[in-house]
Amino acid sequence: MAVLVTGGAGYIGSHAVAALKERGEDIVVVDNLQQGHKEALLGGKLYVGDLRDADFLDTVFKENEIDAVIHFAANSLVGESMKQPGKYYHNNVYGTLCLLEKMNEYGVGRIVFSSTAATYGEPENVPIDEYDRTLPTNAYGETKLAMEKMMKWFDIAHGIKYISLRYFNAAGAHDSGLIGEDHRPETHLVPIVLEAALGKRPHISVFGDDYATEDGTCVRDYIHVSDLADAHLLAVDRLRGGADSAVYNLGNGQGFSVKQVIEIAREVTGRDIRAIIEPRRAGDPAVLVASSERARSELGWNPSRSNLENIIGSAWSWHQANPNGYDRE
Ligand code: UDP
Repeated sequence: MAVLVTGGAGYIGSHAVAALKERGEDIVVVDNLQQGHKEALLGGKLYVGDLRDADFLDTVFKENEIDAVIHFAANSLVGESMKQPGKYYHNNVYGTLCLLEKMNEYGVGRIVFSSTAATYGEPENVPIDEYDRTLPTNAYGETKLAMEKMMKWFDIAHGIKYISLRYFNAAGAHDSGLIGEDHRPETHLVPIVLEAALGKRPHISVFGDDYATEDGTCVRDYIHVSDLADAHLLAVDRLRGGADSAVYNLGNGQGFSVKQVIEIAREVTGRDIRAIIEPRRAGDPAVLVASSERARSELGWNPSRSNLENIIGSAWSWHQANPNGYDRE
């Protein structure tokens, strides 16, 4: 039996593929390569195509014996989602609908879903737990919440069990040094700070220093991408064991401000990183910090690589060795 990984050539997807390969799973990857990189795949059989193409998905489900799906394929940029919500509804929500319908048609009853802290919006409580209110402040988070709700109804109607993993801020790179973060364009804090350290950017823009936080900049909970990948394997195991559907937060439980991230990056890299304060970015909540107690106790998840020096150190090794990401010529 194979695990189907949608979006497996993307940043988090490729780290999950690597972890699946390490434990000897059969892996099928579906990716339209809009944002993914073929070079990021350390294993699996790749089908290049789009979830919204029913004939394409028929081929994938007919040619492989799939018993579980890990669903990463989506657009995932907060800023872009505020400008082009239609793109997010079409790719994320409609794409997931197409996938769930095919899973139902082919009798595949397990899905692990790549969700996000952005489903909560501005939190009522810190740290956030899974019972807290979900009220997204951006279109990206709204589409991910809609996808979760769709899964709930496919479970009720068709018995497809899902585990939704709400990630906080993924960063870092694989221990092997072979895969890491390469988004085009890059919008995430850690890689942008490291590009500034490498001299590829003149400075880092800090989006707002007038938030109600200790130093005025946004606070986030950073989690190593390989710790996230591990949680997906544990979730597949749990569903294979017959568990019911569930939602889990995945974070480290500790918040760092944008200014603190830059300061730690200066220490780790030994480079001078220039920071410039700019206006707030639309859609950003002030503080997002997870309680991941539920994932620890129910999934047996134990993130071991997620202190911030370690996360930034692994990302720095990747960026130094691959200053142009997967363009290696
Ligand atoms: N951020 C920033 N400058 C940048 C990119 C991000 O100040 O060039 C801030 C952003 O406003 C947010 C935090 O860094 O408060 C993390 O942003 P990122 O896009 O990495 O992740 P998100 O929290 O949106 O998932």
